[in-house]
Amino acid sequence: MDIQTVIRATRGVLGDPEGVVPLHVPDYSDNPNAWEYVKQCIDTGWVSSAGAFVDRFEQMLAEYTGSPHAVVVVNGTAALHVALELAGVDDGDEVLMPALTFVATANAARYCRAVPHFVDVDEPTLGVDAARLADYLDETADRRDAGLVNKRTGRRIAALVPMHTFGQPCDLDALMAVCERFGLPMVEDAAESLGAWYKDRHTGTFGKLGILSFNGNKTITTGGGGAILTADPQLAKTAKHLTTTAKSGKAAWEYFHDVTGYNYRLPNLNAALGCAEMERLDAIIEAKRQIAERYIQAFEGIEGVTLYRELDFARSNYWLNILILDPEHADRRDELLDAMNEAKLLVRPIWNPMHTLPMYADCPRMDLSVTESLASRVINLPSSPHLR
Ligand SMILES: *Cc1c(COP(=O)(O)O)cnc(C)c1O
Repeated sequence: MDIQTVIRATRGVLGDPEGVVPLHVPDYSDNPNAWEYVKQCIDTGWVSSAGAFVDRFEQMLAEYTGSPHAVVVVNGTAALHVALELAGVDDGDEVLMPALTFVATANAARYCRAVPHFVDVDEPTLGVDAARLADYLDETADRRDAGLVNKRTGRRIAALVPMHTFGQPCDLDALMAVCERFGLPMVEDAAESLGAWYKDRHTGTFGKLGILSFNGNKTITTGGGGAILTADPQLAKTAKHLTTTAKSGKAAWEYFHDVTGYNYRLPNLNAALGCAEMERLDAIIEAKRQIAERYIQAFEGIEGVTLYRELDFARSNYWLNILILDPEHADRRDELLDAMNEAKLLVRPIWNPMHTLPMYADCPRMDLSVTESLASRVINLPSSPHLR
């Protein structure tokens, strides 16, 4: 692997010989409606916890993803917290999730007083390895009246949370089959995969619940925001109730709350941005797919590195482009990161795997050798849609 060759190939795709290039930044320059909608909020005073843009954003998300229901909330982490609670995750349960994910996945399980249980990924999908998960559960877990129980810890295993890494869909058919076989509800962490499809269905709509994120660095952004997706009208209703402080007085003026709810609602101001972004989502995805195609071409034939490309069953959103170093170059990853950042290409490594973080070091886990290998040699390349 020649570091200068990698830098030249990246610069070639960006068509910018020397400027600073961030990893991913929001871009409202082609979006005059964003200003118009925000202005409407300010002009009418509907800036906060109620307003028409919230309903409209939810409808647009439901329509786009094909999910019968979408409930918007203050961020993706909050969405995941409530989705896990609605899937039945409770105090002392374990939640299966990839060790290769952003920390929010594990944090959300902890907010339910549950224990993350880390499983390995496979290299083709960068997501949970369904075949190895099934073998592992055969060995580790027992189906009892109480549900699936971890024989080693005695705790109930309450759910599986697959995550679509950088917008690349996992093998959902295979994961659904594992869930069915072991009686596990699936909650999809689709925070990174708005605009990504598995076969002909949008990611985040396969599980009992799924979640999206509209954080500042994601495919579309509302400043901060998230959504819960579900096909179940009762779960959607409860999601709305729980995320809006569980208010249920007979009269609108009454402060009666029937359970401990959360103040997780998305302000109308943010939803206004969401509506404007949804209008441009197809164009954003198109731009991102073009950038990915250019990276794939530019890196073809460069020794020692591979640019990840979507699998046959997937239509990716290419949220962040993924450069994978061959295993024999893993020890030069940091050298490459230093050189690229010095060259003003603000590239980043993939996350530290969850089991290497101090608060999750003692959590149960299977063999994580693929996670550990990928964590040592994956780099994200600049992927903002305006780079097209
Ligand atoms: C961004 C992200 C989240 C959390 O979303 P926020 O809106 O930032 O709270 C959760 N999971 C994954 C995998 C993410 O990338």
